[in-house]
Amino acid sequence: MIIDCHGHYTTAPKELLTFRDQQLAGITDKSRKPSSLDLGITDDQIRASIDNYQLKFQKERGTDLTIFSPRAAGMAHHIGDAQVQQDWARVCNDLIARVCGLYPKNFIGAAQLPQVPGGDLGPAIAELERTVKELGFIGCNVNPDPSGGMWTGKPMTDRYWYPLYEKMVELNVPGMVHVSNSCNACFHTTGAHYINGDTTAFMQFITGGQQLFKDFPELTWIVPHGGGAVPYHWGRYRGLALDAKLGELTELLLKNVYFDTCVYHTPGLELLTKVIPTDNILFASEMVGAVKGIDPNTGNYFDDTKKYLDQLNLAEADKKKIFETNALKVFPLLGKVMKERGIG
Ligand SMILES: [Zn+2]
Repeated sequence: MIIDCHGHYTTAPKELLTFRDQQLAGITDKSRKPSSLDLGITDDQIRASIDNYQLKFQKERGTDLTIFSPRAAGMAHHIGDAQVQQDWARVCNDLIARVCGLYPKNFIGAAQLPQVPGGDLGPAIAELERTVKELGFIGCNVNPDPSGGMWTGKPMTDRYWYPLYEKMVELNVPGMVHVSNSCNACFHTTGAHYINGDTTAFMQFITGGQQLFKDFPELTWIVPHGGGAVPYHWGRYRGLALDAKLGELTELLLKNVYFDTCVYHTPGLELLTKVIPTDNILFASEMVGAVKGIDPNTGNYFDDTKKYLDQLNLAEADKKKIFETNALKVFPLLGKVMKERGIG
């Protein structure tokens, strides 16, 4: 059983973008606002958007199940007000639920949350509850910087976030730390802002994690994209924690913080699996996502991360953890949903 804990619906039918265009136009001109949240997308359109992309790649690459969320760069929490965010998250999550309904053995949902920079987290909490209880989702993406690359908000360990964390713990869902698109010209969205978001969140967990995870011992995070710069600079982070008398990172953070394998070359994954304990690594590819092309040197897709892992000669027990059992541990609702759907 191979579970990909990080996939996005980047291939959604064009009606979703038309809705979004109208929604954004409606911010300044109310007459252009979409009249309904019904996108008018048929099941056949959804099938066409999945069969030739995510489902085809699952089959070709030999993976079984993807934890599937709306396109991360599309969340754009910095645009529009709370109502715009709520409507946008709802239509995106409902579309994910339809994909999961059509392909129950291949996709399980994770939510986009309607965050607003510095704003009330009430709508994000309500949408999380709706997606878990009504749509059967098992996780969520939490944007550590809803300002889109301006970093105007509070660190992830600040009490500002606590109401959301209370709900995540109550519902038994982990969060993936996931920024959205950058509106800061200095930061390329997927090349700089994503990796910066991962690294920044981890450093916030170092400085504020002692209190955060004392307050929420059950709160669980996945830091995606291989943890940004963290594995490569593990010595720096470990040293900073020890200098600050915070103890070893394994004790401070690794009961609550996990890393995925969205690293697009073999040496990167070799480093990740050497530095981070196998118990804290979850298989992921982020397909179809940041890097869509084929590596001319190998003829393989850059985001076919299973191929890199297969080259590492990991022990079978470690592979089993990375590909399957760690996901079942980190997503407590996953096993139940898989059983209901007859998966595995
Ligand atoms: Zn992603």
